[in-house]
Amino acid sequence: MNILVINCGSSSLKYQLIDMDKNEVKAKGIVERIGINGSQIKYERTGMDKQVFSKPINNHKEALKEMLGLLTDQELGAIKSLKEIDAVGHRVVHGGEKFSGSVIIDDEVIKALNDNIDLAPLHNPPNIMGIMACKELMPDIPMVGVFDTAFHQTMPPEAFIYGIPYEFYEKYKIRRYGFHGTSHKYVTLRAAELLGKSVDEVNLITCHLGNGSSITAVKNGKSVDTSMGFTPLEGLIMGTRSGSIDPSIIAYLMDKESLATSEVMDILNKKSGVLGISGLSSDFRDIENAALVDSNKRAQVALKAFTYGVKKYIGSYIAALGTVDAIIFTAGVGENSNIVREMVLEGLEPLGIILNKEANKIKGKEKEITTPESKVKVFIIPTNEELMIARETELLVGRD
Ligand code: AMP
Repeated sequence: MNILVINCGSSSLKYQLIDMDKNEVKAKGIVERIGINGSQIKYERTGMDKQVFSKPINNHKEALKEMLGLLTDQELGAIKSLKEIDAVGHRVVHGGEKFSGSVIIDDEVIKALNDNIDLAPLHNPPNIMGIMACKELMPDIPMVGVFDTAFHQTMPPEAFIYGIPYEFYEKYKIRRYGFHGTSHKYVTLRAAELLGKSVDEVNLITCHLGNGSSITAVKNGKSVDTSMGFTPLEGLIMGTRSGSIDPSIIAYLMDKESLATSEVMDILNKKSGVLGISGLSSDFRDIENAALVDSNKRAQVALKAFTYGVKKYIGSYIAALGTVDAIIFTAGVGENSNIVREMVLEGLEPLGIILNKEANKIKGKEKEITTPESKVKVFIIPTNEELMIARETELLVGRD
């Protein structure tokens, strides 16, 4: 079975064509700068050189058309015709409370997604555009929606409710939703395999640390708490996002700097985090370099503030879970930065977490990085959201 995985952002369309029987990516790439000058299509068929094409692409439908053209191209294509695509799996950012799992996309689901736009005004519209474009260009191919929020729908009310009047939850559905669910679920399933346990027997703390970062407490294989909230702005300090701050700061800043709501939100989403603290970069490689090689004080504070935040979440989730089988590090920073992992785990020995510093000197590979005496194991597990989306799609379409 060949599954096309699609992840639409406001000006981009990422794609992967996965052969589920052979467990291999046949082709992948990204269409960038959709609707902006300088549009580009990057295409990589497995085993061939990466191709980059520049041409104007005005919308997601045109992007999809170009991409499907390449996938079926006589010379470069990975398949002969669109008939070889058995299903399409779409990443959808916000499923609200309606979707606690993946779904086959029909008209009713599309209506529900449109009803959720309010909850994710930046993310859901491009996701819906991708779905509509596929529906038009491949009307007979089944489509599945896989939601970033779905894995966290198992959180109990005490973890998802905010301490504001309950009527705002009832009226506007203001609550913690959590994000990166596809990644947290993928590493949860893989960690259970590595631990040799059934997934409903594992307690984990999964740390997805990338440009955006979130941490999840997993009890018996289910999400029971997570650091991101109503939007992906809450929780840890991130590349450019502030993470949790005292809400009063928003009103104070608006007043002092004469800022509009959109301007202050722009600061919190795009100019804060380690970029805002360091004044240098949102990229953790730059931050580590400036902090450790150049002894840049603000980069040092940024790195420490980030890792201190991760440490505090781990501590609080140990308290929430009682027993923890393993802590998982994943995503760009979690998989690659031995420095971040070491700073996070330093001092947690009394909690039964003993890092093997030699084993930790590894990048991007699945590995246990604790000593045999460590009561809580720590694993690096590279995430694979596309494969998770493809698996969910296969499961639903296969069942249909
Ligand atoms: P992601 O959002 O998962 O793609 O992660 C992107 C982040 O991973 C960026 O901030 C990168 O700087 C960071 N990253 C990638 N490789 C490394 C590395 N070797 N050391 C530290 N950070 C890294």
